[in-house]
Amino acid sequence: MKNQELVDFLRSCGVCEVCQLRYLKARGSEYKDINETLRNLDIKVNETDENGEVTPSSDDQPAKKPRLAICSTCLGLFSDEFQKELLEGILNSDFGKYDCQTIVLAISLPMILQLRQLAMWYALQRKFGPIIDSNNPPDVPIKEAVKLILHPIICEKLGKKYDADGLMISVDLRHKLEEEEVEKLVKLNKEAFPYKAAHQKRIEISRGLLEKQYQPAKVKADTFEKYFQIPSPIVEEPLELKNIELQGPLVCVAGRYRKVNREISHTPWVLNGQRVMEDSIEEIIIRNIGPHFTEKPEKIIFMSSGREDVDVRCLGKGRPFCLEIPNSIRSSLSQEQAYKMEQAVDESGKVSIVNLQVVAREELSHIKTGEEQKKKFYRALCALKEPVTVEILENLQISESFDIQQKTPIRVLHRRPLHTRPRTIYSVKARVQRGNPQALIVDIVTQAGTYIKELVHGEFGRTTPSLSSIIGQAMDIQALDVVGIDLEWPPEVDNSLSALKK
Ligand SMILES: [Zn+2]
Repeated sequence: MKNQELVDFLRSCGVCEVCQLRYLKARGSEYKDINETLRNLDIKVNETDENGEVTPSSDDQPAKKPRLAICSTCLGLFSDEFQKELLEGILNSDFGKYDCQTIVLAISLPMILQLRQLAMWYALQRKFGPIIDSNNPPDVPIKEAVKLILHPIICEKLGKKYDADGLMISVDLRHKLEEEEVEKLVKLNKEAFPYKAAHQKRIEISRGLLEKQYQPAKVKADTFEKYFQIPSPIVEEPLELKNIELQGPLVCVAGRYRKVNREISHTPWVLNGQRVMEDSIEEIIIRNIGPHFTEKPEKIIFMSSGREDVDVRCLGKGRPFCLEIPNSIRSSLSQEQAYKMEQAVDESGKVSIVNLQVVAREELSHIKTGEEQKKKFYRALCALKEPVTVEILENLQISESFDIQQKTPIRVLHRRPLHTRPRTIYSVKARVQRGNPQALIVDIVTQAGTYIKELVHGEFGRTTPSLSSIIGQAMDIQALDVVGIDLEWPPEVDNSLSALKK
């Protein structure tokens, strides 16, 4: 089978030039200049006359010469008209709202296209015999050709780059004959696969099924032909653009927060349907960052590497956090914008944030895993009934790690099951608070998941040993701060530098 013979046959069946190249198994950039590729393959290029009529290139063309109309295999998908329509459709959608540099096209192709591809497969076998394989399609599949042909063109026209994680443009295509053809396909399916039809309650006719089961090796041409023509007849109507939907990328914004207030909860605190506290760390952060990325900040997911109680501050370098923002209208954040957000959050007087930056989605694993293995760094302000003695101070300088047994504290029993958990305390270091001989400042390093308040006072022996049992007298905790989180993520960025540059 010569290329010229193949192309002549395809032309006689009303196949467009792009699809001719598909059947010549053209690759990548070969679709850019169709005529040149055809010439390189020694194919005579048709001249189009003023009326859009094709002059046959050879004398042995079949008598019924097709008009240069809708391609019988792609139904106009690769035509200039469709490209124009698609581009207009995209520009008329909410496309302008999205400030994204990258896009990805997701075109849902009607099944009628697959049926036509199959009909052409049979037609080629009839014409050229066993040189046309029964298992491997004779063409570059339309789905792949969309990526090779439409993607680059649309990207170029829109001035965007292709990226699978970019703004997703979902294009829904319809064809007038789709329903009718699928009905026929259901009947064909019963005949072609009677065993399956008898043993499965319901067979979903899907694109996947078509791709997998419908090949000349599995369905005979004669069976197919009872329901469909070989090759497919030429139709008047092209594919219709039914709908375009846009889905912005999932953007992840990370940073570290410091909780500088003892009267704010981590997430909205609601008890019996009533707000206990007006605001929360989550809300303050989302309120100041969300609107830059989305019109629906309520869809944002807030995550952090652990959390602290309402009355506990988190100081030092702060706690790593991340926002997962779906369908984002922007995928970038300049240092200047980040700095403004950091300042706006600081103004709350309750939380401050630093190192704000957009991170790759994969990096969220830092926050999601390994929480139990991490070390926690605390500073506790503790009170004794009597002034601190040298002996007490000495007992609270512990540099070797030790284990405690901790029962679930009574204060959290309403939401956590009762267990006794072993926890490791890595170090304890105490000093007397300046100006108050009855108060101790204790730095404690523990395994994640240790209840610190109970570690200090022992909760009537529910935590043993406790700092109180170690010194042999009652000890109370008055204030607690988290002073370090064992996670070097996200990387440090000084967004205020953007302000200095000005
Ligand atoms: Zn075509």
